[in-house]
Amino acid sequence: MSSDCLFCKIGDGSIPSEKIYESDTLFAINDINPQAPTHILIIPRVHQTSLLDVEKSDHEMMGSVITVANQLAKERGLDKTGYRLVVNCGEGAGQSVLHIHYHILGGRPLKWPPG
Ligand code: 5GP
Ligand code: ZN
Repeated sequence: MSSDCLFCKIGDGSIPSEKIYESDTLFAINDINPQAPTHILIIPRVHQTSLLDVEKSDHEMMGSVITVANQLAKERGLDKTGYRLVVNCGEGAGQSVLHIHYHILGGRPLKWPPG
């Protein structure tokens, strides 16, 4: 827990936010500023600043991110239309919240490269 971290505070409930998925290690919320009809954030509960902090001991949790992403995507029919799972790592890549999180985007055609 980092005391001034938005996603730590959402995770522990001190900032209220509807969780669309919860486990001991992860939770998911709808993005407040959606960039697609489905825009979900999957957020590990443990505070890590970015993908650069991930270690071997986190591999099981990262596998869970993919399982949860598939589950949430399938519930929304995105297994049929496609979805994107993306991490912005560092300010230069567009990371604005310094607590690792995985974006699920879908429900519209997605261009590549994302820009
Ligand atoms: P980043 O730019 O760091 O990859 O993604 C951060 C995401 O968090 C952005 O898409 C932004 O809209 C979202 N976000 C920022 N503050 C909040 C918040 O208070 N609640 C929710 N649900 N999403 C937020
Ligand atoms: Zn945090």
